[in-house]
Amino acid sequence: PETITVQELANRMAARGGEVVKTLFRMGVMATLTQTIDADTAELVVTEMGHRPKRVAESDVELGLEGAPDTEAELQPRPPVVTIMGHVDHGKTSLLDALRQTDVAAHEAGGITQHIGAYQIELPSGGKVTFIDTPGHEAFTAMRARGASVTDMVVLVVAADDGVMPQTVEAIRHARAANVPLIVAINKIDKPGVRPDRVRQELLQHEVVVESLGGETQEVEVSATQRINLDKLLEAILLQAEILDLRANPNRPAEGTVIESKLDRGRGPVATVLVQRGTLRQGDIVVAGTEWGRVRAMLDDRGRQIKEAPPSLPVEILGLSGVPAAGEHCIVVPDEARAREISEYRQRRAREKAALAAGAGRGTLNEMLA
Ligand code: GDP
Ligand code: MG
Repeated sequence: PETITVQELANRMAARGGEVVKTLFRMGVMATLTQTIDADTAELVVTEMGHRPKRVAESDVELGLEGAPDTEAELQPRPPVVTIMGHVDHGKTSLLDALRQTDVAAHEAGGITQHIGAYQIELPSGGKVTFIDTPGHEAFTAMRARGASVTDMVVLVVAADDGVMPQTVEAIRHARAANVPLIVAINKIDKPGVRPDRVRQELLQHEVVVESLGGETQEVEVSATQRINLDKLLEAILLQAEILDLRANPNRPAEGTVIESKLDRGRGPVATVLVQRGTLRQGDIVVAGTEWGRVRAMLDDRGRQIKEAPPSLPVEILGLSGVPAAGEHCIVVPDEARAREISEYRQRRAREKAALAAGAGRGTLNEMLA
């Protein structure tokens, strides 16, 4: 059912919250600012207070943000976005580093790698893959808590000399909850005496059935430090991407998710955004959570200034009013007025939520009428 908090209703009428509470009280409804009332009651109060009620969805300010859905013809293939997860010390960081070095442009002059929370590599075949380069589990949890889904697949690193461990199991659970496929990378196969088959058996106990055991989960034996089978792992990723048929419309205002953010002494608020739809351009006006601003500059994972960022490309953006949290939705809007409106609406919602959480069930009549 449609509901609205008393405070939000007051805001919409540009009336004082106390006035709305008093009007409600006269109508026989006792409600505090943070309590919700149904749409019918809201309509009555609005009329009672001399306004013309106009019913819109509760999140009308947000509505229309996404615009029209993309048509089949507008969708174009986009690179897969991959998160590497696994137990501590099983080689996640080593694998991310090793994969990054497979980039065909990795040894170009001036290519100084930056840590921006994600990077994209280009394969000799011309294919591209984006890796999320933040501490896997925490980032995954934080983003999922905000309803964000950024990753298309999870590469599960399991060290052949250690086998399935608690965080391996946790990673399997994360991937399942997010409904993204796994690719198993059995790492450290360069070590003498390791038994990768034992890893396969252990995974079986957690209902991960790899292909060599008749299942559907691709597995690759690798060594991150000895750079063994990295090409096979990348092939497996591209195959999975093909199966998933990953596509996006690059010809629309951009939308994406904040992967990482910080306040830089010299540059101000800096956010790494993974573009998920559309193309982000320098000069665009974006809203990210409650922050907004004009994209003053955009940098790729090598610190190079770029003017445009297509789907699946992670970029650092400068020009926001503040530091948005990881997992926040980022979207391009037509003008500053709209950006301000959305930002203010979200700030109000956040305050209401906080007030609701703090004052749940409390509130005396005096407070209500204050
Ligand atoms: P993380 O905690 O999962 O990020 O693991 P790291 O990448 O930090 O690796 C933990 C340790 O395992 C480091 O000492 C690495 O050098 C080592 N290591 C990672 N991959 C391999 C590998 O393929 N072979 C061997 N022998 N050691 C590895
Ligand atoms: Mg690490």
